[in-house]
Amino acid sequence: MNTQNAPQAVIIGAGPAGSYTALHLAKQGIKTIVFEEHTQIGQPAHCAGHISIRSLKTLGLYPLEGIVENTFCAANFYSPQGTKFALQLNCPVTAALNRTYLDQYIANQAQKAGAEFRLNSRVQTLLIQKGTITGLKIKTNNNTDTLLRAPIVVDAEGISSRLLRQTGLTPLKASGLVYAIETEMDNIEGIEEHAVEVYFGKGYAPGFYGWVIPKPDGTAKVGLATNQGDPRNYLKRLMTKHPVASKQLSKAKILNATYHAISLGGPIPQACSNGFLAVGDCASQIKPTTGGGVIFGLTAAKEAATTASQALTIGDVSTKVLMSYQRRCSELFSFDFKTMLQLRRFLDSLSDEKLDEMLRVCSKLGVDKALRGVTEIDYQGKMLLNVATKPAMIAALAYFALLYLNPS
Ligand SMILES: Cc1cc2nc3c(=O)[nH]c(=O)nc-3n(C[C@H](O)[C@H](O)[C@H](O)COP(=O)(O)OP(=O)(O)OC[C@H]3O[C@@H](n4cnc5c(N)ncnc54)[C@H](O)[C@@H]3O)c2cc1C
Repeated sequence: MNTQNAPQAVIIGAGPAGSYTALHLAKQGIKTIVFEEHTQIGQPAHCAGHISIRSLKTLGLYPLEGIVENTFCAANFYSPQGTKFALQLNCPVTAALNRTYLDQYIANQAQKAGAEFRLNSRVQTLLIQKGTITGLKIKTNNNTDTLLRAPIVVDAEGISSRLLRQTGLTPLKASGLVYAIETEMDNIEGIEEHAVEVYFGKGYAPGFYGWVIPKPDGTAKVGLATNQGDPRNYLKRLMTKHPVASKQLSKAKILNATYHAISLGGPIPQACSNGFLAVGDCASQIKPTTGGGVIFGLTAAKEAATTASQALTIGDVSTKVLMSYQRRCSELFSFDFKTMLQLRRFLDSLSDEKLDEMLRVCSKLGVDKALRGVTEIDYQGKMLLNVATKPAMIAALAYFALLYLNPS
């Protein structure tokens, strides 16, 4: 092999986490190749692309012209009985992004910085020598197998985490998975252009929730996820039986639909080993409350690139050195993940009646006013700490604690 052209880092997957890692590696002059099994980056898209504006700005990824489909300063939460808790914020806090365009934008930035992308190239297996990941076996478009060695392998393969399992690291918990249907619909009625609709209830979306994310052209991203049964059947039920959604979606037409899993179980205990780093969904860096994984995946990707670059500089890619990535992720996310896992457990524990009661109490106590100034929605542990001193929040948190102790 010509070592001058040999990559220093290879990346599995050109989703946001893989391409953002490539961008930050390439910026540091590290020869990087990304392998993507599909022929087009960002296709097929499976994601609602509902993302916090503040976090995008922090990552240097805003205003994203031509990628932002809509912005939101409000959310309406509905109980299965139709009780509404309306949250109106002072300024747009989230944006709906076209996920195909976002993935392509990040990949383009990485290419401009010097990273190479090979499409239609499926990584078959990791190459492992004496406990160190030393490269990849790739199947390319002409059906030939290629072996490629590199000191750093970054796994950004997404939720399947098939390759991660070859490392011996603990994979994401199957018990934390929910199964989602994401659709695009038109002919939706009675919704506000800049508000997201969220529907709870065991009969409609057990273990998660349903959503409508409107676009200015009158279409909307509509979906839900469940921890049991077929999400298609639950969506049908939401559209026909839910006291509010059935009216909003009575004339809706499904233009397209995709199916994908979301991991709500919190991050895997360790996301690195000798010569190997895992980022994004395959490391389950996803919010257990909302299933949002883009921001945490991108944030972790930047940290992975920093650690990989340091390891390459000192010529030591052992787990001991790469654990610096793990420590950074813990510093950044650990408190928020713990809080969000508790919130997820709390929501899952509530009966439909208690959910209804909870939304009523939120409105009565003025929780909407206490939350009006919120701009942070990703780091939900820190966000709660910030608002927890407001009288309405103290009362609401005390009430939630009681519900948690006596959920049914
Ligand atoms: C229905 C639904 C709605 C969602 N909505 C939101 C939302 O509103 N906001 C949000 O923040 N998050 C959302 N998410 C989560 C979000 O989609 C993921 O967290 C995010 O895509 C993770 O990025 P990633 O780069 O880790 O993985 P992915 O985006 O899954 O990218 C992985 C890439 O790796 C490629 N790949 C896999 N295996 C191989 C292989 N062996 N060889 C080569 N290439 C390979 C895949 O083709 C893919 O391109 C949603 C998820 C679902 C299912």
